[in-house]
Amino acid sequence: MIVFSDLDGTLLDHSSYDFAPALPAIRRLQDAGIPIVPATSKTAAEVAPLMKRIGLEGPAIVENGGGVINGSDTAYRSGDYLIVRERLDQLPPAMRDRFKGFGDMGVDGIAKATGLPLDAAKLAGERQFTEPGLFDGTPDELSDFLDALHSLGISAKKGGRFLTLANGRHSKADKMSMVCKEIDAEPPIVALGDAPNDRAMLEAANIAIVVRNPDHGGIDVAETAQRRVIQTTQPGPMGWNEAIQAILDEYGY
Ligand SMILES: [Mg+2]
Repeated sequence: MIVFSDLDGTLLDHSSYDFAPALPAIRRLQDAGIPIVPATSKTAAEVAPLMKRIGLEGPAIVENGGGVINGSDTAYRSGDYLIVRERLDQLPPAMRDRFKGFGDMGVDGIAKATGLPLDAAKLAGERQFTEPGLFDGTPDELSDFLDALHSLGISAKKGGRFLTLANGRHSKADKMSMVCKEIDAEPPIVALGDAPNDRAMLEAANIAIVVRNPDHGGIDVAETAQRRVIQTTQPGPMGWNEAIQAILDEYGY
């Protein structure tokens, strides 16, 4: 068994970021030697201290599937981020100037754009793989911008207010299969998420756990012969604990 988990609103409480209610299930997984792999939009710099506090080691999927880091090793640097920035600067200046990425904003600008406090904004700005930013222009200008980037090999995903650029295509789901191969994980693959942007990850699992999120209407994930879907009754880390403990009971751990 291997467990992939979204963080915000799933393993971490939506507003307090507390994970304590999930600790009984986390410790049971660890005692059974079952890997827990965070899969998040956060950067390595944001995830590493959190993993340390939870007591997690091993791989994590960061920047929404942009890349995989190994535990506390934030020294790892990928060339992907630099490639994205380089391609942006190849655009005609009038087009380029419409996009303001985290790399253009500075820490103050990131704090302002995200609402994060300064110290958290600094960590969110330590990009390795992908570049989130804001596009200021008409829908036609946006579509020209995306076409121009596409011809340079850069993909874009819209999530909330931000447009996130990446070198080539990427997703949490394809990084899941990479991690499974790398650490030779045994099925079943368990995945937990709370929001529609977790759907691909849940669909790549054998046991998809939809953690209740009072702010969303839930996630529409279909049951198949290879996939069970479990909806938790409680939100965040309470729901996480409830569902994982039930799975561990069922599998006899
Ligand atoms: Mg979430």
